[in-house]
Amino acid sequence: MLFTPTVIKNLLKKPATRNYPFTVREPFPNYRGELVIDIDGCIFCGTCSRKCPSQCITVDKNAGTWQCDPHACVYCGICRDNCPTKCLSMKDVHRKPMTEKITWIEQGTPPKPKKKTAEKKEEK
Ligand code: SF4
Ligand code: SF4
Repeated sequence: MLFTPTVIKNLLKKPATRNYPFTVREPFPNYRGELVIDIDGCIFCGTCSRKCPSQCITVDKNAGTWQCDPHACVYCGICRDNCPTKCLSMKDVHRKPMTEKITWIEQGTPPKPKKKTAEKKEEK
């Protein structure tokens, strides 16, 4: 029988799959899970919003708000990698499933408007 060695081997070795959800695999290093923002570190530059491939981030510099549609996020990590202040990070677990659609809004402190320099005033 051609298959006999394979059958015996499969009978003797451990199962190839885990008994999920009772046995959960340890996350890999640099795993891209749930997105987290430290809003106090955000300067509202909008880089994350411009780079996001699924266009799920909206930044309002004047209002000091950072908004994300977590259902549209594809966990690519591009926003985190391009944030100049490193205030975006990703957990090593995925967001828990939800039964309702939510919009994630963070309220920060909007940057103060820059004062016009004397030079610019003279030009006018
Ligand atoms: S890239 Fe970073 S600092 Fe800029 S708006 Fe996004 S979270 Fe804030
Ligand atoms: S991880 Fe990717 S898809 Fe999700 S918000 Fe950041 S850039 Fe957008």
